[in-house]
Amino acid sequence: MTRITATDGTTIRISSAGPSRALRNRATDVDAAVVEVGSTGLPAIEPLVAVTRAGETAFHARCSPMEMDAIAASLDEEAVSTAGDAVAQHDPDATRLPAVDLPGLRGSDRVILGACGWRRPTEPEDHEAAGGFTDPDATAVLEAAADLRGRGWGDLCHDEPLAATWKTARDADDDPVVVVNAHGNTTDTLLLSSAPFEVLDGAVAAARAVGAESVVVYTSVDDDRAVETVREAAANYPSPAPAVDVVTGPAEYRAAEPTMALEAIEGNHRLEARIRPPGPESTGLHGRPTLVHTPRTLAHLAVSLRTGRQPDTRTVTLTGDVADPATVEVSESETLETALDAVDIDGEFKAACVGGRFGGLTRDADVALDPATLTEAGLGTEGTVHVLAEDRCVLEFVGKRTQFAADENCGRCVPCREGTTQLADLLRDIYDGEYAPGDIEELARVMDTSSICAFGVQAGRPARTALTEFESELRAHADGRCPTSSCLDAVEVT
Ligand code: SF4
Repeated sequence: MTRITATDGTTIRISSAGPSRALRNRATDVDAAVVEVGSTGLPAIEPLVAVTRAGETAFHARCSPMEMDAIAASLDEEAVSTAGDAVAQHDPDATRLPAVDLPGLRGSDRVILGACGWRRPTEPEDHEAAGGFTDPDATAVLEAAADLRGRGWGDLCHDEPLAATWKTARDADDDPVVVVNAHGNTTDTLLLSSAPFEVLDGAVAAARAVGAESVVVYTSVDDDRAVETVREAAANYPSPAPAVDVVTGPAEYRAAEPTMALEAIEGNHRLEARIRPPGPESTGLHGRPTLVHTPRTLAHLAVSLRTGRQPDTRTVTLTGDVADPATVEVSESETLETALDAVDIDGEFKAACVGGRFGGLTRDADVALDPATLTEAGLGTEGTVHVLAEDRCVLEFVGKRTQFAADENCGRCVPCREGTTQLADLLRDIYDGEYAPGDIEELARVMDTSSICAFGVQAGRPARTALTEFESELRAHADGRCPTSSCLDAVEVT
């Protein structure tokens, strides 16, 4: 076959969460850089092939092998092919995925997720070109972290500034350790798979700030690709840097809780939350002072150190009644409505459970995504949104979430262990005509204020928010009627 000589400087990027070797093999007769990059976090448009030349990129979504042949055949033409799904103009030396008119990529350029779908995850050269591998001193890191708040329930400083926790770890007598908690959150797994150097930069900086000489990356045992990629990235990380271990824990929801993560890393089979104080920052992994941060927190830290300012963005993963899930990055001032642009909802939007497994329910797509607004609205800040379409029964949805909490809690404290079971019973009673909103509200309040860890604190939130947002729908069930007609026969809320 005749080799196709592409115009100088052409790069073809293939982005996919799975293997992309088949597409790459279709471009072996092309004299151009063909690189496999990590997933964008947007399976609806992957495999995504991006052809870049002189500050212009043509994107081909859901690219098939036959389309790849056509792309390859067009590479000797002067201009970038416009036969793709969208074209973006950008800086010729762009080091992050540019904004483009595709679902999930509209708006401004991604910052925290900028490497995802653009840079080779384990190639130091790509990360260095983006200004990575910064070598800040401890003072610079402490300044960058002063106002940074932890992201996600797996972070020891969830929605809290890092500074006080870091000071405790730094002042402790024993050698500190940094744990990267990537368990159970889609964005965190995406960062490890597609932008591991961003996470490692943050972890190395945090280690330097507190004087730690070891970093442990912790993931679910299911996240094979993340484990493999971060291991390779750690091996390629320039020295000197702290030693990096990668450890997996069971694929159970509660295993993401920071102290249960430490139990899993230590190899304990029975996962129970640790009572605080003392917190992990003074007595953590194997008794050593320990920071536990999510990849999202650490990637924010890394970008702040590089750019001198904190990105005011949030990452959100949308799931539920949608054609494909999507992970997006939006400005904190944007609303849920903006994030929803990334997904095709299976029908009309009814509500969203905002803030993870035990998020809060809202019908209001105009709610802003900054943590203060979300908290004030009774919603969660975990960065995961479950979309409910019009035909989804809220009582069934809330009942399942509550039953999950009853089945999956660690059993260590009474408010959560007994409270989740009683709450599931109260919701089940509605089917028998006994609707007791006051009892539900009070029980959720007690769980919130008395549970040992965030699991129990949050477990009553779906039910509590359903009381206010969907009062008439709950009451209708007590009258023997499901307004969505989807659970009339569902006597058991399991
Ligand atoms: S709140 Fe729930 S998960 Fe947390 S310690 Fe108590 S029983 Fe365990």
